[in-house]
Amino acid sequence: MAYKISSDCVACSSCINICPTGAISIQQDKYWIDPALCNNCEGYAPQPLCVSICDVGASTLLNPKKGRVKSIENPFKVSPSLFANGVSTPFASAIAIWEACSLLAQRQSLPWDLDDKGTLVYERSVSQGKGKIALRLNNVINFSYPRSHIEAQTILASDTLDIRATCMHLIYAAYATTLEKPWEQEFTISDHQIEEYLGLDKRKDLTKSTKLNLIKTLAIQPCWITAQIDWPKQGKVEAFSLPESPLWHLLEIVHHFHEDEEGCKHLVGLTFRVKAGDWSQHFLNKKECHAGRSFYQYSTLPKSLLGAIMSIWQQHEGAARMLLWLLFKTRMGDQQRIMVMTLMRVAYGEDRVNQAISQREERKRLIRMFESDLEVVNRYGLKPIFEPVSYPVEIQPLWSKLADIPDDAEAALEFWINDGSGNSRLTDIGPRGKWQMLINARILSFDLLADWEHPAELSRKRRKIERSQNQSPRQPTKSSGKKILTSSQSLLSGEQIASLRKDLQISQRTLAEKIGKSQSWIRDVENGRFQPKHNEQQLIRQALKI
Ligand code: SF4
Ligand code: SF4
Repeated sequence: MAYKISSDCVACSSCINICPTGAISIQQDKYWIDPALCNNCEGYAPQPLCVSICDVGASTLLNPKKGRVKSIENPFKVSPSLFANGVSTPFASAIAIWEACSLLAQRQSLPWDLDDKGTLVYERSVSQGKGKIALRLNNVINFSYPRSHIEAQTILASDTLDIRATCMHLIYAAYATTLEKPWEQEFTISDHQIEEYLGLDKRKDLTKSTKLNLIKTLAIQPCWITAQIDWPKQGKVEAFSLPESPLWHLLEIVHHFHEDEEGCKHLVGLTFRVKAGDWSQHFLNKKECHAGRSFYQYSTLPKSLLGAIMSIWQQHEGAARMLLWLLFKTRMGDQQRIMVMTLMRVAYGEDRVNQAISQREERKRLIRMFESDLEVVNRYGLKPIFEPVSYPVEIQPLWSKLADIPDDAEAALEFWINDGSGNSRLTDIGPRGKWQMLINARILSFDLLADWEHPAELSRKRRKIERSQNQSPRQPTKSSGKKILTSSQSLLSGEQIASLRKDLQISQRTLAEKIGKSQSWIRDVENGRFQPKHNEQQLIRQALKI
C-alpha cells in the first residue's frame, strides 16, 4: 500500500528528494505522493523514508478510497474522441510508428545494440541499407553508461516496458492523424477517453485508483522512445535526416485531485497533453504529400484490437505480438504467404526459435505455444488460411481441424464415421518431423475482419458497390421472397447466402466443398463475422446458381 501526505504537512521539503522512487512532488501547491510510483521504499530502506524524515507525521498510509469516485469537472478541453463510428479509426502507420510498436511489444527479443555513447539502441535499415532508423529509450532507467548486451536485455525483459503500452502508442498515432499539422499541434486526452478505448471502463474488478495508475504508466512509456531517422531520396521526396528526438512529446500530465477530510489529495483524474515528434512532418504531412514532397502514411486501427491486447497480454503475449504485427503487415495484399517461422519469430523472438531448432523439448513447447496463440488470433477473428501444400491438414492445429465438424448432429456423425474409416484420424498426434514441415509451412493469408480494412481500400470497395448497385436494379427471389442483388459485382450478405443455401436445400458442408472452403468458413460468413472477398462472392454465386 502506498503512502499519502496529510494537511499536517508544513512543506519543509525534506521528503521530496529523499524518496528513492521519485513519487513525491508538489501538485497545485501541495505535497503529493503518486501511488503509482510509491513502493513503500521496498528494496531501498527497511522503513518508508518519507515517514522517518517527517517531523510532523504528515506521511501516513494511504487507505483505498471507499465508494464511488465523484466525476470531476475537467478544466481542459480534450480532443474529440476517436472511433467516431464505434469500430475503427485511421492511425499513422509510418515506419517509425511500426518500429516503435515493435519495440514496445518485442522488448528483449529485438536485436539491441550499444551505440558509441554506450546507449542502448535498436537500429533498422531502410531502402536496402540506403537509410536507417534508430530508436532509443530515454526513460528513468539510466542507459547512458556501458552495459553488457545481456544486462540490457534483462532490463528490457523486466517490468520496465509493458506490452500494453503499444495500445497507447497506437492511440497517439490515431490522434496525430486527426490534426492538419501534427508536428505543430498538440492533442489532449483524458483518462475517461483512454478507459473507454482500452475497455477499462468495463473492468469492475479494478478500483479507480488502479485504473489511473495503469493508464499513467502506459501513457508515459511510448514517450520514452526517441527516433533518429536517415531517409534516402525516394521519388520526388528528397533525402532527409532527423536528429534524435522524442517520438511523442509528453507536454504535460495534469493530475485532478479530490481532497478528503484530512486534507489528503486523492487522484481522481488525469489529462495528457501530447504532441507528435518531428517524424510527423515527413510521414504525416497531407499538404506536402499532395505535392509529392513528403509522405502521408496511415492505416486503420480497429478498436477491438486494443481491447484484445488488453485482455490477452498476460496469458498469450505471443498472440498479442502476432496481432500487432498483422495490423501493420496485412496491408501488403490478399495472399501474403506468411512463413510460419516468421510468425514464430515475431511471437517468441529469434533466440527462442533458434533454441527450438537445436532442442527437442523446446521445439515441442514452441509448437504447442504457437498453436495455442494462433487459436487466440483465430478466436479474435483473424482466421488463418493454411496453404494446402506446405501446411497440410496433418500438421494443422487440432482446433482448426475441429472447426470443420458440422453443427448438424447427423452430419457430425457422418463426419466422425468418415474420419474413423480413413487412414489418418483428426485426433492423431502430429507426424514425425512435424517441426521440419512447419519450418517450410506457410499461411496463405488471414481472413480480415471488416474493421481491419484499410480506409482507402474500404472506400474503393464502397464506391465499387455503389457503382454496381446503380447499374443493376434489385430483383426479388422467387423462393425466399427476400431481395437479393443480381449483379455479378454486388455483394451478398451472410444472411442472403444462408437463405439461398437453405432454398437449395444444401448443407453448409456441401456449399463449402463446392467452393473449396471449410464448413467453418461458410458458418462465419453466414453469421456475418466477415464478408467474402469479390472472387469468393463469385464462387458462392456460382454454387448457389445465381
Ligand atoms: S510531508 Fe513532512 S517531510 Fe514532507 S514536506 Fe511535508 S512536512 Fe516536510
Ligand atoms: S514510502 Fe518511500 S517510496 Fe513511498 S513516497 Fe515515501 S519515500 Fe517515496
